[in-house]
Amino acid sequence: MAHRVLVVDDQKGVRRLLEELFKKEGYEVNVAVDGKDSVEKVKAYPPDIVLMDMKMPNMNGLEASQEIIKFDQTIPIIMMTAYGEMEVVQKALEVGVKKYITKPFDIIDLRNMVREVLNS
Ligand SMILES: [Mg+2]
Repeated sequence: MAHRVLVVDDQKGVRRLLEELFKKEGYEVNVAVDGKDSVEKVKAYPPDIVLMDMKMPNMNGLEASQEIIKFDQTIPIIMMTAYGEMEVVQKALEVGVKKYITKPFDIIDLRNMVREVLNS
């Protein structure tokens, strides 16, 4: 069965890019438009991995990650941050976010990171 990826980003272009990439890789992909939406989608249909943007309206990536980890700490989360957000990245790692990648990133690096997390 295909691994389920939940892509969370408030930017439509990023959602579309990552959705296309991971579908092409053979994953089942769902998207969420903000933190609140991501928590609802995780609870309704738990994914195998979450790709979480940091800056979003209606609950940012850190708060959403905390809620998701509270719901099920076995779901790995990769945080997608912008340059200069190290403080919040640190907090995210402390609450249990697995890895982070800094925007703008090479999608091949993200693809490899997802593979590595799912295979570990
Ligand atoms: Mg954003």
